[in-house]
Amino acid sequence: MDDCIFCKIGAGKIPSAKVYEDERFLAFLDINPVSPGHTLLIPKKHVDNLFDIEEPLYSEMFQTAKKLSKSLTKAMGAKRVGVMVEGFLVHHAHVHLIPMNHGSDLNPANARKAEPAELTAIAEKIRKQI
Ligand code: 5GP
Ligand code: ZN
Repeated sequence: MDDCIFCKIGAGKIPSAKVYEDERFLAFLDINPVSPGHTLLIPKKHVDNLFDIEEPLYSEMFQTAKKLSKSLTKAMGAKRVGVMVEGFLVHHAHVHLIPMNHGSDLNPANARKAEPAELTAIAEKIRKQI
């Protein structure tokens, strides 16, 4: 879709701190992370609602999330990776993958704007674990 920011990021027209990419998916760091390493996983194909994604793309997306969770856990030294789905701000399906050490870490109120240099450094650290 022409006016969709995540379509533009998926097509490489807008830069992002990339964590993982293949033909169907892109994972990149959220510019307002809830915790360091907060990653957004998107299908490159535009679909608004995550739960409208058809098979086999839907299952492949969660297989990708599973793979990324292992890399995020190692790279960020996190105990777990939380999964959050909202989609009120950007109407292109995405899953938030949030490194966590405590139950209270999965809280959108903790979001803060990150410096681009910080995101670049964290993305590189995560890519090394993939
Ligand atoms: P949601 O739609 O799930 O409520 O929130 C969208 C998420 O996308 C937010 O956490 C927001 O910080 C993030 N976001 C919005 N625009 C951009 C962008 O241009 N680049 C990146 N990396 N993240 C974005
Ligand atoms: Zn889109």
